[in-house]
Amino acid sequence: MKNKNHRVLATGEALFLEGETGHEAFAIESGAVDIYIERPEGRSVLARLSKDDIFGEMALAGDHTRTASAMAIVPTVLTVITHEYLAERLDRADPMLRHLLRVTMARCRDSLRTTGSGKTAAAAQKRGDGQDSLVDRDIALRRLHLEQDLERALENGEFQLHFQPIVRLADGSTAGFEALIRWLKPGVGKVPPDEFIWVAEESGLISAIGRWVIRSACESINRLETAHHLSQPDAEPLFITVNLSIRQFSDPDLFADLKKSLEAEGLAPKRVKLEITESLVMNNLDASLALLNRCKSLGCQLVVDDFGTGYSSLSYLHKFPMDALKLDRSFIRDAVGNPPALKIVRAISNMAIDLGMETVAEGIETAHQAEASREADIRYGQGFLWSRALPLEEAAAYCRSSSASRVA
Ligand code: C2E
Ligand code: CA
Ligand code: CA
Repeated sequence: MKNKNHRVLATGEALFLEGETGHEAFAIESGAVDIYIERPEGRSVLARLSKDDIFGEMALAGDHTRTASAMAIVPTVLTVITHEYLAERLDRADPMLRHLLRVTMARCRDSLRTTGSGKTAAAAQKRGDGQDSLVDRDIALRRLHLEQDLERALENGEFQLHFQPIVRLADGSTAGFEALIRWLKPGVGKVPPDEFIWVAEESGLISAIGRWVIRSACESINRLETAHHLSQPDAEPLFITVNLSIRQFSDPDLFADLKKSLEAEGLAPKRVKLEITESLVMNNLDASLALLNRCKSLGCQLVVDDFGTGYSSLSYLHKFPMDALKLDRSFIRDAVGNPPALKIVRAISNMAIDLGMETVAEGIETAHQAEASREADIRYGQGFLWSRALPLEEAAAYCRSSSASRVA
């Protein structure tokens, strides 16, 4: 957004007076400005500002009333920071930061007014609390409580992994599981990940939660493998897929923890697949490449999750060390009885085969969708047709009862 206005003031020229309405803040390019208040006992200079100082911002975050006057004391050039420019930035800020800024501004105004005219703190604070501020406060407090609840949930062991089978479309046999987090919130029940993962990501808690997910997923796949091996002794060992958020890539302990978990459970690294959504990779190309290569160097496989929902170019596919594409469920939903949509699934499948990648179709709910995916040479399927994500014991029972005859 453009913000190119300048103001030039002569010596002694007032920019604004206390009590006026103000919609702009100012940065001093050159010169000097006095901020002052006039009182019956005389003028009191609150600050003498010079190059690069910013002033006038308090009117913008509050009720737009200037709490002091400003005057150039030498020839002065100012950059004008418009209300529009500031509001746009504030809108994009975290609600808690926005709320804290407003509270801080209200307190500053309050203390200036109390100094100047003896008005009460409560009255000044109330004037600063507009409707926007109340909405922000509610959002900010809800967020804060959710963050605190999540932190407690991790300490109290309220998270649980559920496991959704991933089957070979060729014969319906179980090839692995996707680990999906659940929050068993006391007094509330099961909270789905869509309702809290984004808060964990924004607050940074996702690093600790993600490390817990990796550790539990590695432990659990061995439990599931035991059950699987009993029912199908000759089958390939199961793999587990874990969802990674891009924020976890900046967690310095992620790789060490992943390595430790693999070693502790005696797991071959290729049995652990890391899922990263396409839009996350695309929006963080350079950082992603370095970090994906590190994951890959451990021997873990990399899966592009929600493939087809967020890309602007396919060229990233050969730049990234990805092993598999997981087609978003919208493709599968549209594919049955819709030849053009099916052609797209087939084209993606062929491209993946050419690039040496495996494919997974997710969100398969009907036998027709499974059949369409199989005919398009998609290798694996996942969806409610076989099972929802199950708690560990139920997933183990699923393994015991599953057999090669479980064909869609
Ligand atoms: P996702 O990785 O795309 O996971 C697939 C979601 O689709 C899961 O929802 C799964 O239960 C659901 N699903 C599976 N089969 C079907 C089907 O046939 N039909 C329909 N309609 N849905 C199906 P869930 O478990 O609620 O997870 C939602 C999202 O939360 C996941 O999407 C993933 O992005 C995120 N998530 C889950 N667990 C974790 C985790 O441990 N770490 C991180 N970073 N994200 C996670
Ligand atoms: Ca996933
Ligand atoms: Ca997905």
